Amino acid sequence: MNLLITNYCTRKCAFCFARAKIGQKENVNTARHMSLDQLDGIMDFLERSGDKKLRLLGGEPTLHPQLEAIVQRAFARGFHVHLFSNCMMPAKVADFLAALPQEQLSLLANVSLNEHDTPQQKERVNYALAALGPKVQLGITVTSPDFSYEYLVNLINRYGLRRRIRIGIAQPIVGHDNTYLHPGEYRATGRALAAMAMACEQQDILIGFDCGLTMCMFSDEEFAILARCSEGFKTVCQPVLDLGPDMQAWHCFPLSDVLNVPFEDYSDRNAMVRDFQKKTAPYKSFGCMPECMRCVYLRRGQCTGGCLAHAMQSFNRTHDLAKSGS
Ligand code: SF4
Ligand code: SF4
Repeated sequence: MNLLITNYCTRKCAFCFARAKIGQKENVNTARHMSLDQLDGIMDFLERSGDKKLRLLGGEPTLHPQLEAIVQRAFARGFHVHLFSNCMMPAKVADFLAALPQEQLSLLANVSLNEHDTPQQKERVNYALAALGPKVQLGITVTSPDFSYEYLVNLINRYGLRRRIRIGIAQPIVGHDNTYLHPGEYRATGRALAAMAMACEQQDILIGFDCGLTMCMFSDEEFAILARCSEGFKTVCQPVLDLGPDMQAWHCFPLSDVLNVPFEDYSDRNAMVRDFQKKTAPYKSFGCMPECMRCVYLRRGQCTGGCLAHAMQSFNRTHDLAKSGS
């Protein structure tokens, strides 16, 4: 379960998957942060679920005013802390995290190129990467087949970062207007990902994937490349589970506005997962494009037709059209 410990962020990425939850917060004073008491209750929940990993995201989790206390409480209870960060953290936060044991703390850093980043923001990222070194794995969000990744390889080599790159596919957020990878570009993106995997293998770097991939992105030859050069991937949607400072939990960010539940209604993770699986089951037979309806992989349950946000959006559009025509 990912915990949105603050809804404040210093960036405004066009693909932002958390957009529905962080809104357009301009000022840290208007941000909402998860409290230490809330986090204690969440750690109880995670322990009941057999999970000893505290996954902190936002917004930008390093901007939570009590980050040090959160980390110390988590360590005291034997949790591993994993941060999802843009690495634009103040130097004193980077120094604090750098001094913590590597076996108890890790970061997934999305340092996507952004022309609006100021020199000061870039300096902060470089400072944090240099301080944190092998605790950091880099991630990238793919919005088109001609994405760049070479700068990530350079950063890994320059700062001695973990030799892994995590790849997320930008997905639509139901009910919102964000940048995402269109299914018409999946095949070209699959080719580019396989080429990236081979180039990274030459540098002794493995790639890994978030959810939302599809079987038809790759040829047989590209599947073989990924089997050798990646950590593996899934083409079947399973709930991610995220939780916000208002203690509402949701299936995953793309569905965050449409599949919300009160955290307190569930005893543990399995109960919440089962409920979300029941609620999303009908959408797993639609797919993300017309071809899915005739696809053998969908019929066999090997592919759920990409991210369910596509199916939900087209269902909503059809519903709206039917309503306006009636
Ligand atoms: S179900 Fe749809 S997305 Fe999945 S492999 Fe088939 S055509 Fe592609
Ligand atoms: S709907 Fe499924 S595939 Fe899409 S982001 Fe959520 S969990 Fe991943």
